[in-house]
This record gives sequence, structure tokens and C-alpha cells, in this order.
Amino acid sequence: MLHFFPVINIKNKGGWTSIGITLFLCCISFFGFSQDKKTVFIILDGIPASELERVETPNLDQIAEIGGYARAFTGGKKDGYSQTPTISAVGYNSLLTGTWANKHNVWGNGIEDPNYHYWTVFRFLKEVRPDAKTAIFSTWQDNRTKLLGENLPETRFLKLDKSFDGLELDTLTYPHDEEHLYIRDIDDKVADEASAFLRSDGPDLSWVYLQFTDDMGHRFGKSPQLGAAIRLADAQIGKLWEAVQYRQKEFGEDWLIWVTTDHGRKEPEGKDHGGQSNSEREIWMVTNAKSLNERFHSGKAAMVDILPSFLRFFNLVVPEERENELDGVSLIGKISIENAELIKKGRVWTVNWNPIAKTGPVKLYWSPTDHFSQGGSDDYFPLGETDVSSGSFLIPRWIGKRKFFKILIEGEINSLNVWRN
Ligand SMILES: [Zn+2]
Repeated sequence: MLHFFPVINIKNKGGWTSIGITLFLCCISFFGFSQDKKTVFIILDGIPASELERVETPNLDQIAEIGGYARAFTGGKKDGYSQTPTISAVGYNSLLTGTWANKHNVWGNGIEDPNYHYWTVFRFLKEVRPDAKTAIFSTWQDNRTKLLGENLPETRFLKLDKSFDGLELDTLTYPHDEEHLYIRDIDDKVADEASAFLRSDGPDLSWVYLQFTDDMGHRFGKSPQLGAAIRLADAQIGKLWEAVQYRQKEFGEDWLIWVTTDHGRKEPEGKDHGGQSNSEREIWMVTNAKSLNERFHSGKAAMVDILPSFLRFFNLVVPEERENELDGVSLIGKISIENAELIKKGRVWTVNWNPIAKTGPVKLYWSPTDHFSQGGSDDYFPLGETDVSSGSFLIPRWIGKRKFFKILIEGEINSLNVWRN
């Protein structure tokens, strides 16, 4: 909506009344704008960065021109405690929770036992702003029922305001043909429904999930068929992007659109995925976000950075003990530190980080327990303080001897955590 302020002239009261009303309306408008932040994120399944870059994608290009495009990674720390399979549902949940699989506990597409103590972005938004409107449009129903855990006691009965999914279960309308064209048709329907709803209702947070590119990747690998599927996905993105632009123009809303994929594919054919090769771990991101930081542009952003970026965009203040468990950092705006790592040399442990800020204090804490993953709290004890630029801190030997401990590194703007286990 274009905000214009009717000047109401009440002649007998002089000029002050009209100025007052105008100021009052200005204030409503000002605060209204700060609340009018909307996010839509889209997962296009299983598109290798090299394939995306090879194929013409005019709509994604348009979005990237405003914000940016970058290669990124998923899969946690390779050979480390947070190593995470490059499997679809696992990747979605790393995005949704901002944590790797050792925390969110989704290890495969069976989604047997997600740890709902690690909130999804939908849960964060709803807990902090219960009036926020949320939506999902998905070619796979498990995304809502299992990953988001809609209506489960474990998620305090999280409820989405709008959901459109489960078409893959309707085999009468969408008979499961060998070519998987039914998935292509469902994607189309999902994208149409999503763009219509974004346009009409402008939900605060939406997730759109499209699958056909993964089916073509599995069958044909790097191929004209995958290329065609990517172009199709780009056209579907175009419809969503059009809806976003409509809302921006007509309602003055501040929209963040974030497009990514859940994993790469194994070289050289580009068919399989699930392992830890560089090409399977490689993903990419496209967004219209304007203040993308150096981490985004470094090409080393992580899947788990997306949730902190959304929190930053929404200015969402979340419970500190939850923030301290996030494995990612914001790709929007300033950050002071990134990439925490525990290194053992001989008997001595040090914790390292990459300083982004030039100077400023860093405070370190440790906890001997992991009650958080069971729904409890952990006590953190001070370890010491140093300047951010030092990039490392020595862990006292008596702590280093323990089989398990968590380290929390608190920079001026963001914090990092890293575990020994
Ligand atoms: Zn996938």
C-alpha cells in the first residue's frame, strides 16, 4: 500500500489538529513498516551449483542482482562431530533448525525421531510473535507433518495458518508415472498456489518446496533433462517473485526471498548424493537481501546460516539459550566471529575462530553437560576473555581431559558454539 496521509482540515480548531492527525498516522505507518517484514524461502531439490550456473535462469538472476548469489555448503563438519548426511530431509531440517544432524537428529528421509527441542524457524517466529502468519506449499507432506511437527505435543501443537501439500498422496489425480511427470505437475500446482496466496495474503513466513529437479538428477544426472527441470523451476520462482514484487509495491512490505538447494550430487555423473564429497556438500543460495555480509560472499556460507539470517531480518529476539545452540551465523548485516573449531595438539585443546571484527572483546564459557538436547538447560561457566583478533583461546587442561564439553564464544555481535564429543 502506498502510504499517503490525508490532511483533515478542521477549520475552527486551527492548524494543530490536522498536524496532529498527520503525525499520528505517520507513527502508525512507521511502526507498521517495522512489523511488515515478510520472508519466503524456497528449496529447489538437489541442484548442483555447477548445473545452476550453466543453465539460463532469468528469474533467479533478477533476484540475485538485487541481493546476491553464492555457492555454499551443507553436511556439517566433515569427519567431525556435526557431520551430516547430504540427504534431502536432513538438509531441509538443517535449514529449518539452524543446527546440524547431531542436534536436530534427522538422519534420513524416514525422519524417524526429530529432536524438536531444536526449534524450527516457524516455531521461533510463532513463540515470539504468536500473531505471525505462516504458510507452507510443498510437494512432500512430511515437511509439514514430520519436520515442522505440526500439531504435535512436542512442538506445543505448532499450527501453520495455511498449508498446501499432500498432492503426491492423491494417486487418482496424480498417477505415479515412471517418468515422474506427476512430480513436475505437482510442483507447478504448488508454485501456482503459493504465488496466489503470497499475493492475496502476504504471510509473514512461508516455505515453498519443489522436487522435480531431484527426480531428474537421480535419473539422468547432469543432462539436458536436468537442465530443462532447472529452467522450469526458475519459471516457478518467477511466479513467486512476481507475487513478492506485487506485495512490495502495493503494500509497502519489506520482503526477503531466499532460494537454495538441499545438497549437491556426486561427481562425475551428478546422480547420487548422501555422502561427504565436495560436490555432494556443495549447495548455493540466491536472495534479494541487500546487506549480505562477507561470509555470504566468501562462498563458505552454510545451510545452517539461513535461520540466523531470518532471525536477523525479522529482528526477532529469541531466548538466549536457544540462540547459543545455533550452529550458523547471520549472512545479513554485521557479524564479529565465525567458524569455531576445537583443535587438539598433544594434550592441549585450543578453540579457534575466524575474526571478522577487527577488534573488540570475546568472552568464552564452557559447559560440562548437554541437557538442552533433552529439553533441559546447561550451566555455562566463564573461561576468560580475549580480543577477537587473537582468533584462539587455550582450554584449561582439567577441562580438556573431559570426554564431553561445550564451548560458547560470545562476540560483540554474535556467538558461536562448538563441542568436544
Ligand atoms: Zn534432495
